[in-house]
Amino acid sequence: MGKSSNQTSAMSRAIERLSRLPGIGKRSAERIAFYLLKADPQEAQQLAGAINDLRTQSIQCSRCWNIAESDPCPVCTDPQRDHATILVVEQPGDVASLEATGIYRGLYHVLWGRLAALEGIGPGDLTIGALVDRVREARSSSSPIHEVILGTNPTLEGDGTALYLAQKLEPLGVRVSRLARGVPTGSTLETVSKAVLADAVAGRQGMTGT
Ligand SMILES: [Zn+2]
Repeated sequence: MGKSSNQTSAMSRAIERLSRLPGIGKRSAERIAFYLLKADPQEAQQLAGAINDLRTQSIQCSRCWNIAESDPCPVCTDPQRDHATILVVEQPGDVASLEATGIYRGLYHVLWGRLAALEGIGPGDLTIGALVDRVREARSSSSPIHEVILGTNPTLEGDGTALYLAQKLEPLGVRVSRLARGVPTGSTLETVSKAVLADAVAGRQGMTGT
């Protein structure tokens, strides 16, 4: 076995691993693998290092499920924030976008996706159960939740997820609202401007149309 066959197997191993990632098909995996092979050696090393650090240095907050370096995270433990309001988002990047606006001072809940029947993503694949438990358990505590703001993306699936969540949360006696429609339909929270996001938070509306 010569050097070239080792290279071939390293390449096919890399392609096989990459193609397991969500949204990466075989073709994309091949492109990424060839790119890394040709790029500056540091490029591949830094990627490998970042992936390794992701698993060893990042943890999820057991309250809001956001990525954090401590559990509970600094947002969940900040006494200056409004602990009676939870803003539900699809991804950690949405929290980062909203935090950048500085307008929202409540807590968060990260779903890690949205309901997508066609892709086989159901309630059990998201942190919906944890959100319902969180609101229910807070009811009998000294700091109950008064409002849950649904900040899922204004896409068909994001809207469907919001509707599902409203049906689960409204019977628990909390006000359930949806981020205002300043966020363009089909866009994601991560890509809209700070000003639009700030308007969306300020102009949120009750799910039942009140
Ligand atoms: Zn947290």
